[in-house]
Amino acid sequence: MYKQFIISSSPNILSSPVEYLKGVGTLRGELLKKESAIFTFKDLLEYYPFRHVDKTKIDKIASLNPGSDYAQVAGKLTHVELIGEKRSKRLVACLQDDTGQMELVWFQGISWAEKLLTVGHYYLVFGKVSFFMNQVQINHPEIELYAAEKAEGKKFLEPVYYSTEKLKARGLTGRAFAKLTYALLQQLSVKDLPENIPETLLSKYRFISRWDAFCSIHFPASEEMYTHAVRRLKFEELFFAQMRLGLLRSTRHRFSKGWTFNKVGDLFNTFYNTYLPFKLTNAQKKVLKEIRKDIGSGKQMNRLLQGDVGSGKTIVALLSMLIAADNIHPTNCDAFQSVLMAPTEILAQQHFNTISAMVKDMPICVKLLTGSSAAKQRREILKACEDGTLNILVGTHAVIEDKVKFRNLGFAVIDEQHKFGVAQRAKLWNKNSLPPHVLVMTATPIPRTLALTAYGDLDYSVIDELPPGRQPIATVHRFESKRPMVMDFIRDEIKKGRQAYIVYPLIEESAKMDYENLMKGFEEVKSFFPEPKFWISMVHGRQPAAQKDTNMQRFVKGDTQIMVSTTVIEVGVNVPNASIMVVESAEKFGLSQLHQLRGRVGRGSEKSFCILLTGNKVSKDARERLKILCATNDGFKVAEKDLEIRGPGDIEGTKQSGLLNFKLANIVNDRVMLEAAKNAATEIINTDPDLIMAENLPVKSYLQIQKGKTVWSKIS
Ligand code: ADP
Ligand code: MG
Repeated sequence: MYKQFIISSSPNILSSPVEYLKGVGTLRGELLKKESAIFTFKDLLEYYPFRHVDKTKIDKIASLNPGSDYAQVAGKLTHVELIGEKRSKRLVACLQDDTGQMELVWFQGISWAEKLLTVGHYYLVFGKVSFFMNQVQINHPEIELYAAEKAEGKKFLEPVYYSTEKLKARGLTGRAFAKLTYALLQQLSVKDLPENIPETLLSKYRFISRWDAFCSIHFPASEEMYTHAVRRLKFEELFFAQMRLGLLRSTRHRFSKGWTFNKVGDLFNTFYNTYLPFKLTNAQKKVLKEIRKDIGSGKQMNRLLQGDVGSGKTIVALLSMLIAADNIHPTNCDAFQSVLMAPTEILAQQHFNTISAMVKDMPICVKLLTGSSAAKQRREILKACEDGTLNILVGTHAVIEDKVKFRNLGFAVIDEQHKFGVAQRAKLWNKNSLPPHVLVMTATPIPRTLALTAYGDLDYSVIDELPPGRQPIATVHRFESKRPMVMDFIRDEIKKGRQAYIVYPLIEESAKMDYENLMKGFEEVKSFFPEPKFWISMVHGRQPAAQKDTNMQRFVKGDTQIMVSTTVIEVGVNVPNASIMVVESAEKFGLSQLHQLRGRVGRGSEKSFCILLTGNKVSKDARERLKILCATNDGFKVAEKDLEIRGPGDIEGTKQSGLLNFKLANIVNDRVMLEAAKNAATEIINTDPDLIMAENLPVKSYLQIQKGKTVWSKIS
């Protein structure tokens, strides 16, 4: 068991509250906390500038054009005027240099700007150039009084920081941040920023010292120094993130006791030799070996299993659960039990059907428990869990409710991980004296870079091979104008005996509209298929569970040929005879989600198709994204592209993961450095897990003084 606690920081100047810094004070201190999450000196030090300006480089107003990005101009203020009423109220000032004149505009912070501006004075102005009715403007510029002689000095790069209107109103402009940071660096010395990266890494990658890096990221002597500073601090960020994850994993490996399943017995062997309906792929065998090694080690397994849709994760889970059932508890001598938890009722039902069919001739007791299990049944199931007669419990999160007690819970499978939180995983652990081994399965391919950061504390297996004989799913993008042809195509396929899905987007913010679209779509589909033998099921989230289930079952049995639905059918649903997937408004889906949807077809022996429908007008961006899907069937490639396009923040399941909130690093652009940081951290942890070697002491002490950071330590 682990206990979470927070190590109090040693007295350290960097942990001083920001209001103690000269020039800040209580009021500004409060504002810095609220607006920029700057609480301490350290936070301010890590509030990095987003760019630097060379104060000696001044643009002429006449040289600004619609292609100009940011500009710095100096000139005389000739006019200030408040224009417009209420919401269109704005302050407009005219600035003139020897080549022309331009407008400076404020929509917010007007009273603050008014105080600052005096007609006839000279100002230095910096900001993003825009054009409005042919007039060159800068909206909300950084602005300060300009003394021409000050700029004559030698070239120096002045940092510019993000600021907000509220901060600016208190005088905390982007450039005021520079003054504060400068004052802070003056107060600090090298000893306040001790080295935290081992010597060998410093020299291997030729990193500059920590002190130099912090000085140079704010006030670089040259562009080159700035580059060095960023490189070093990015590595530091990635390296410590990897160290923390790696230490969590290593602590677990070393200390978290688990049940030892060292026996592969009759149940596994009988099933494998007699009932397994196909040959395992090499990838499945490899993963099974990894699992067997874990569960035989005496430590608790915590493994993430990734495999594209249809790669055959379920059978790996079943075989593992059979091994659990082959092993008996050391003291009560009853067999170990397993749970398989799925995110939805439909999926739980499906897993239950698959598994109970496969083991029907074996002495294995499998039960299904969901929110809608009848009371009598539920009582029987709970009893079987508690007295140990049940071997495998399949269900929704109902299986981890407190009422469910197991005699010997030894193995837990969680399907489609991103829908289950860590808290729920932890709950499973508390059911017996030792935690069960945990296998988390996901079909949402996670690019390696993301897996390293978001799930770095889990062990990680991949099924990177599909069972033989699968045909790639032909994917095309079609515009609305081609709808009649798409429908004709569906009709032809159905006449050959196939089934089709038509999926509508469901975006929660506009659930009502989506729902109306779905209903409209349903009527439309009906009118396209007036044939008496064409039956249509509809499934969506607003239906009562029973109705949803009936409609789903009719499609599964082949009583209906077309399934119109929202994304409730996204994960796991298995209807091998369905060979067409039509996605409406495909541009509204993420790429990985489209890939998931596409995985609903291509499950049988027939050639399958995925048709991505969009309006006639879609952005070039959207077309490019859909093209990726048309070009490849490989979920990992799709996920990599998705990550590149959307950035890590948007990938499902990672939003809450603070691990991705890097200040400097970006796991897409800096993936090479991420790998280097990962390797460095792994090597240290493998050779010196307690960080006692002299070389690694800087790492250890840095990890310990990280104020407020969570540290995990073993208790008893
Ligand atoms: P997923 O990884 O998406 O959960 P499933 O476990 O549902 O995939 O497997 C998809 C289909 O492939 C199932 O019908 C399963 O029986 C079949 N299957 C799994 N492994 C193999 C294999 N090695 N050879 C042939 N078919 C397989
Ligand atoms: Mg599955």
